[in-house]
Amino acid sequence: EKLGPRQVKEALYTYVRPTPATANPELLAVSPAAFRDLGLKLEEAETKEFVDLVAGNGSYEDVDENGVYPWAQCYGGWQFGQFAGQLGDGRAISLFEGTNPQTGKRYEVQLKGAGKTPYSRFADGRAVLRSSIREFLVSEYLNSIGIPTTRALALTLLPNEMVVREKMEVCAIVARMAESWIRIGTFDIFRARGDRVRLRQLCDYVHEEVLGLTMTEGNKYEAMYREIVKRNAKVVALWQVYGFMNGVLNTDNTSILGLSLDFGPFAFMDKFDPSYTPNHDDYLLRYSFRNQPTIIWWNLVRLAEDIAELITVEDPHDAEFIANGVPEADTDALIEKAEKLIASIGEDYKTVFLTTYKEKMAERMGFKSFKEEDFDSHFSPVLDLMEKHEFDFHLFFRKLAETPVKEIKAEIFLPADASKKDIKDVEGYLTMYKERLAEEGITDEMRIPQMKKTNPKFVPKNWVLDEIIKRVEKDGEREVLKDVVKCVMEPFEDTWEGVKDAERWCGPVPKDKQAMQCSCSS
Ligand code: AMP
Ligand code: MG
Ligand code: MG
Repeated sequence: EKLGPRQVKEALYTYVRPTPATANPELLAVSPAAFRDLGLKLEEAETKEFVDLVAGNGSYEDVDENGVYPWAQCYGGWQFGQFAGQLGDGRAISLFEGTNPQTGKRYEVQLKGAGKTPYSRFADGRAVLRSSIREFLVSEYLNSIGIPTTRALALTLLPNEMVVREKMEVCAIVARMAESWIRIGTFDIFRARGDRVRLRQLCDYVHEEVLGLTMTEGNKYEAMYREIVKRNAKVVALWQVYGFMNGVLNTDNTSILGLSLDFGPFAFMDKFDPSYTPNHDDYLLRYSFRNQPTIIWWNLVRLAEDIAELITVEDPHDAEFIANGVPEADTDALIEKAEKLIASIGEDYKTVFLTTYKEKMAERMGFKSFKEEDFDSHFSPVLDLMEKHEFDFHLFFRKLAETPVKEIKAEIFLPADASKKDIKDVEGYLTMYKERLAEEGITDEMRIPQMKKTNPKFVPKNWVLDEIIKRVEKDGEREVLKDVVKCVMEPFEDTWEGVKDAERWCGPVPKDKQAMQCSCSS
């Protein structure tokens, strides 16, 4: 009873062991890139110890009090605009932190779907194979295209564990890693509880240990907040540039490191539609493509509110303040100061967002450098064109990348039966595009290889993931995972050796599989 799901008070985390898998866990896939980044050799994956570890069958009995013992984090969150109280790692259990000796980067390695924790609430602590395949592939894909993200090390099937979702489904575990799993929701819960002690501990930890900030003057909490804002502005700009949607941007899914985090009903855009949400239950379109930048800011304002007294007080190290907070009489002044500060940091958010967006879009378009008029003369017209003609977002860019200027014409983007009017419309923009290239003296020799490096050929769209899931789940195929991992590792290539489905996966989305939506069940 005492160890079951509960409200965990006055603690940032709880020690808890993974539930052992009952029989024959099967390692389905590993990420060579994640192994490299953690400083592990790929051969490690072939040992029984490794498979035991990532299946939740590691042994922890003998760890003494100085050793490492698995833990689950406490957090809360705002879900769809409402405060949801305590959430926490309900099925993810962290095993250890490992530092890559070469890069000095430290990762917290955890198992998602490793069994119940005090934070499991009414649920079973498991994750199904379907959603685990999705998370494993998309984490590593986002990393491959240069978008900050949590990572995935290994995907392990637990053939004996079955749980009910939409139907009975087999379970799996994703061994995943991140430089930190702390999210805005981690702050939300302590603020909701009025736990100033834990909130401050958390801020100190994030400032020094996670963000590695060193600060001698000014308010260190404000500096921490500014850094979190900047990183999130950057990641959401990259999502917009690459047509990626998280689908559930609640504060518990918003990383303080600005990592893409929590892959439920995510999607990459296919036919371009800014109002599209991949989340089947998101009928208000809160987490649609066009809302992502606004929602991330909304989440960041919740964070500012959580730590408002720390970022605005004159001296956060004052003993009286630490003990008792801001005197009643000063609260109005403090709120006013906090509002001003948040508004001014909001301007920085916009600046970082736009700078990142412009730079990366210019790169995707094949321009040498961004010019101020590009926004109105190129980015907006291109997106309007895509929306109007329902172009596939990624195919459009990749075709542009692969085609010599002389051969760029409306027909390569439009269906064979396109009307004269449509052809004229598309041709109109393409003429401007060619003029823009000529202005900077951009040749095909420079443009094509450079554009291919920022416009991936392979994109794990939902229909591709669905096909892979079906082939692994129902048909018992295993090779298909090896194939798709090759594409995920090198998405900018033209071909992948031995991957016979590659051309089809990289081609147009089958008509009946466009703009698919997912439910949250996972
Ligand atoms: P998410 O919607 O994935 O952001 O999850 C929201 C919360 O529900 C988190 O606290 C998760 O840990 C928890 N959760 C989701 N699925 C399960 C599950 N099968 N067992 C336990 N907790 C879960
Ligand atoms: Mg979550
Ligand atoms: Mg989730």
